[in-house]
Amino acid sequence: MNTFWSRHVEGLTPYVPGEQPRIERLIKLNTNENPYPPSPKVIAAIHAECGDALRLYPDPQSGALKGALASYYGVEPSEVFVGNGSDEVLAHAFHAFFIQDLPLLMPTVSYSFYQVYCRLYGISATLVPLAEGMRVDPAQFGASCGGVVLANPNAPTGIALPLEQVEQILRAQPDRVVLVDEAYVDFGAQSAMSLVRSYSNLLVVQTFSKSRALAGLRVGFAIGQAHLIEALERIKDSFNSYPLGRLESAGAVAALEDEDYFQARRAQVIATREHLARQLTALGFEVLPSSTNFLFARHGLHRGADLAQALRDRAILVRHFKSPDIDDFLRISIGTDEECAQLVLAFAEILAR
Ligand SMILES: *Cc1c(COP(=O)(O)O)cnc(C)c1O
Repeated sequence: MNTFWSRHVEGLTPYVPGEQPRIERLIKLNTNENPYPPSPKVIAAIHAECGDALRLYPDPQSGALKGALASYYGVEPSEVFVGNGSDEVLAHAFHAFFIQDLPLLMPTVSYSFYQVYCRLYGISATLVPLAEGMRVDPAQFGASCGGVVLANPNAPTGIALPLEQVEQILRAQPDRVVLVDEAYVDFGAQSAMSLVRSYSNLLVVQTFSKSRALAGLRVGFAIGQAHLIEALERIKDSFNSYPLGRLESAGAVAALEDEDYFQARRAQVIATREHLARQLTALGFEVLPSSTNFLFARHGLHRGADLAQALRDRAILVRHFKSPDIDDFLRISIGTDEECAQLVLAFAEILAR
């Protein structure tokens, strides 16, 4: 044990993000970034904000961005929380709602950051096994618990839960917060946003990182009834008054205003995904049905780790998780059509060896 560390720090298991290496002519399909640039209007808005005003602290309430999100999603500004990436929003939600006497319920295969937050905040978790086809089974989320966290679509499987099944979980847990992390929802799943009015226990979390191509800006948000948002504000104002700078807020507002660009890019990613899924299937991969900007796939004759390494040798990065239930799989972010074509060529070569 390091002399200077507290016992708390000693007990942490930090999240390990996908690598961001500097390799020339790299095809980077490992962290689910958008292959397209952000809207030019976002860049213009950030430029316009770059000036004398940076001397001044930003609005601690991020009123302009909350207002823009509220009108985009048809809720009140008091029903919107914003943070420095949805990871920060998730952390505050765990802190605000899940430190309870009973364990938090989550699927065995889900976003691995959830278990990191559990450690950070001393929250115990019960992992609910996936059903047939690596699906989340809503009937397994009725046990008495301290809360429920789900990614929908799930990560890294990419599989979406229909809205009725999210609702089934909300009804089974009326006294607990059900957090639905919709990081990938814009790529083809049904958002639970429409249920916020009817369920006082629902918190929906989304991000600008994936579908709006702004992973580098760090903007995430939550939508839920005002009593939940107030709890998040209490945590935020006990932690960092200014999680979003002026550039982040200006860029995020501009992204929401450019609906045509958003719709065009998101449709392109979905089209590329469907094409790539067919090509991988033809190469002998089992590809799970994806509602995200990535595919989760395995090849019966090759180990996931070996395939990931063989791709890496060809300057193509995909994500491989060492965890035993998903060790055979690769998570492949959707790139441009050109990048995906290169990937298919590389796989064809590797599999022919
Ligand atoms: C990418 C991702 C996030 C984090 O997004 P940021 O807003 O960039 O912090 C959260 N949840 C899931 C499931 C993700 O895949």
